[in-house]
Amino acid sequence: MLDRTAKLTEYQTYIDGTWVDAASGKTLQSIDPYTGEPWAVIPECDRTDVDRAVEAASRAFESGPWPQMTPTARGKLMRRIAQLIEQHAEHLGQIEVRDNGKLIAEMVAQTKYMPEWFYYYGGLADKIQGAVVAVDRADHFNYILREPVGVCGFITPWNSPLMLATWKLAPALAAGCTVVIKPSEFTSASLLEFMRLVIEPSGLPPGVVNVVTGYGAVAGEALVTHPKVNKIAFTGGSVTGARVNELAARSFKKVSLELGGKSPNIVFDDCILDDAVSGAVSGIFAATGQTCIAGSRLLLQESIHDAFVEKLVAMARTARLGDPALAETQVGPVTTPAQYQKILSYIEIAKSEGAACVLGGGPAGADEGGGKYFVKPTIFTGVDNRMRIAQEEVFGPVLSVIKFKDEEDAVRIANDVAFGLGAGVWTQSVKRAHTMARRIKAGTVWVNTYRAVSFLMPFGGYKASGLGRENGMEAIDGYLQSKSVWINNGPGGGNPFIMKTAG
Ligand code: NAD
Repeated sequence: MLDRTAKLTEYQTYIDGTWVDAASGKTLQSIDPYTGEPWAVIPECDRTDVDRAVEAASRAFESGPWPQMTPTARGKLMRRIAQLIEQHAEHLGQIEVRDNGKLIAEMVAQTKYMPEWFYYYGGLADKIQGAVVAVDRADHFNYILREPVGVCGFITPWNSPLMLATWKLAPALAAGCTVVIKPSEFTSASLLEFMRLVIEPSGLPPGVVNVVTGYGAVAGEALVTHPKVNKIAFTGGSVTGARVNELAARSFKKVSLELGGKSPNIVFDDCILDDAVSGAVSGIFAATGQTCIAGSRLLLQESIHDAFVEKLVAMARTARLGDPALAETQVGPVTTPAQYQKILSYIEIAKSEGAACVLGGGPAGADEGGGKYFVKPTIFTGVDNRMRIAQEEVFGPVLSVIKFKDEEDAVRIANDVAFGLGAGVWTQSVKRAHTMARRIKAGTVWVNTYRAVSFLMPFGGYKASGLGRENGMEAIDGYLQSKSVWINNGPGGGNPFIMKTAG
């Protein structure tokens, strides 16, 4: 059970295998979104701390035990990390409930599942193979090595701090990289607990994983511009992602971006209605809508529109708001005051655009299970896809319902948006399922399910939703680079003034 009576918890950050304060001595407070009160104190790192962390990661990459370790030994170490997460899953989940306001029910599921990433990528560590190439030259033996990219900077958002760090950390370690992580200034505590309970006792050499807590514009930018960082893996909003991409480009860093979404959840009249209603609710009200893959545009075929909306509203109306630490709570608080204001402002925008609010539409008070930062589950019908409420990411429990005529119309509306992260399709027709999966421009298409993730399935965005993929076998490629090796076993010579081609 979550203890909210304890006084402020003071954290240090973890750099080069030791616990330290920010060099400036500055701190920032972390707020419990359920009570609206500060509960933890976090170091406010700046460029000096980032420099220390990157230097540590660089040393650990170039010398010391980490680069000497065989990939098989790295894999074993990662399995130890997985076991330590299993041991501490409950506590890690509770910290995230406190810091982020995530539901305990969701955190139990997430922290139980997180070890799989370390088992899976730990297993891949010694299966990273190069190739021997039968090159078009006599007496040559040519091969391709696959080497780690080096020091990686991770920047993560507040909405799923541990899981999103895990998606980056597991493939990076398997590849042999070293890492500096900058978590969101709003939710740093669970990562610091992860370092204390998992990384420190795992036996990873000092400097392989480091954390710099602090603000994006200061610690984040220092990391993105640091000359010794070779790759940036960022998860967050599209505007910040564009800025990070531009800054990283100046020093030619490799970049992967997991950004926002405005995902269509498309319901055809041949669906199993109850499943689709539940899928629509899960798409937008799970995680209080604060998820990049929220199915925030519900596309309903005209013929079932009214019946569907009736069932949807009836189900959404029963959602239990309340303390995220209680197992029965279904919708928790919004994580930050700024996000709370943003959601409320989008509700006003939708109303002013002429959408009809058929459920919710404002803050949820204590009598409804709410509190300081609660928003009622909100549904707008009569939304036109050109409205801002249909085009811009709200990142809250606000659903836009849009009518469509037929398959062609559904594809047109689904793709008519800047983003391309996910999409849901509800149909019993196999042909339609495959056709829609092929035609929708998004990194993930779920048919007759929604918001499912796995370490085995690549995850990422089309269009403004990002660059690169996390999860699955291909994620490890983002942390590797290839080196072509040419060995000439034959005579030298030839004209030194022309390129050595086969012709
Ligand atoms: P954000 O972009 O405000 O912040 C993300 C991170 O970037 C934070 O750690 C922040 O401190 C840092 N940052 C901010 N400015 C920076 C700068 N100039 N340089 C370097 N770092 C900087 O996002 P948020 O509000 O924390 O998270 C919500 C957003 O994240 C939503 O748009 C959501 O869709 C997206 N998201 C995407 C995925 C995905 O996998 N595609 C997953 C979760 C969240």
